[in-house]
Amino acid sequence: MDYSEFLKDIEERDELKRYRFEIGPIRPPSEGGCCSLLIRITYNCPWSRCRFCYGTPYGGEKFRKRGVGEIIEDILSVKNIENVIKRLIIKLGSINRVGRIITPFFLYEKRFDELNDAEYKNIRSIINVYEWMYSGEKTVFLQDANSLVMNSKDLATVLRYIKKQFPQVERVTSYARSSTLSRKSLNDLIMLKKSGLDRLHVGLESGDDDVLKYVNKGVTAKEHIIGGVKAKEAKIELSEYIMPGLGGKKLSVQHAKNTARVISEINPDYVRSRPYTPNPLTPLYEEMVNGEFEILTPYGYLDETKILVKNLNFDGRLCFDHMMNFWRKKDGRPLFSRNYEGYNFPDEKDKVLALIDEGLSIDESIHEHKLEYLA
Ligand code: SF4
Repeated sequence: MDYSEFLKDIEERDELKRYRFEIGPIRPPSEGGCCSLLIRITYNCPWSRCRFCYGTPYGGEKFRKRGVGEIIEDILSVKNIENVIKRLIIKLGSINRVGRIITPFFLYEKRFDELNDAEYKNIRSIINVYEWMYSGEKTVFLQDANSLVMNSKDLATVLRYIKKQFPQVERVTSYARSSTLSRKSLNDLIMLKKSGLDRLHVGLESGDDDVLKYVNKGVTAKEHIIGGVKAKEAKIELSEYIMPGLGGKKLSVQHAKNTARVISEINPDYVRSRPYTPNPLTPLYEEMVNGEFEILTPYGYLDETKILVKNLNFDGRLCFDHMMNFWRKKDGRPLFSRNYEGYNFPDEKDKVLALIDEGLSIDESIHEHKLEYLA
């Protein structure tokens, strides 16, 4: 029989078409790249007012909470897709062969650009479950920007349900805002940890109150510390994102010093660098264009990072695990490792400082920080 005819007779095809679940737009790269199972707890960002972001990763869409029932339905859809894929693996002989048929053509006899919304959502859901299975079903990421806004007991119910359906999962993680984290009770955080929440990713951005106020982060340095320390006390792993350059030229030094101070007080497991990159859809970009906000030069970013690193006293890992860390070596390779585990502090502090000096010793034009929209 012709192989394409054989595929048409696979009864799982229609079954797969029945299942879909909500998938939000972003997740941290460190959570398995494209291999984390995505479970959507809320829609979008409840704040959407940071002046360098404005909720643009979520298309500026309105925030909405989801009910436990809706989320459980999604988890059941994942389970159903997983079961069908398992049967297909047996039928076709390998997971790679299954991968070859998870296509718009196999399911709908269409190209991607011909799918309607429901079909697109369906195939996106199947691909997410497939990639998660392919990578060993190790991690789950709860979307979107701040899952902790959900009532703690409800979130614990969802977490326990995930663990029950997928006991093989090794790590469940989520984004959280410090303002919400700082208001959660320690008991609630301990309950969430015991229910299966392993790691939180928090956008600290800065530990300087002037910078935080200027960019309307909606949180103070003190709240960052309270939230971060509490998460650590609850034994939840903590990944804090910092944004070199966010204070511009004017606030650069105090931004670096106070961010180092706050990080040192929290002592998170990970600090992840995401240098400020102007986003044309935000107010801070407009201020940059009209000259009110002076963006750092590539050397300026490195000088600021040097002050930060010198003042950083913690025993976690400092990571430059994103292409936004634009600095390069003389031969064009990234200046810092993009590894998700980054540099171990304090042991590798001198190594990071030496790399910064290396970056400062080569021609500044090698560090391409493209601002092409200024042209
Ligand atoms: S809280 Fe995060 S997602 Fe929301 S506006 Fe601020 S930076 Fe953007």
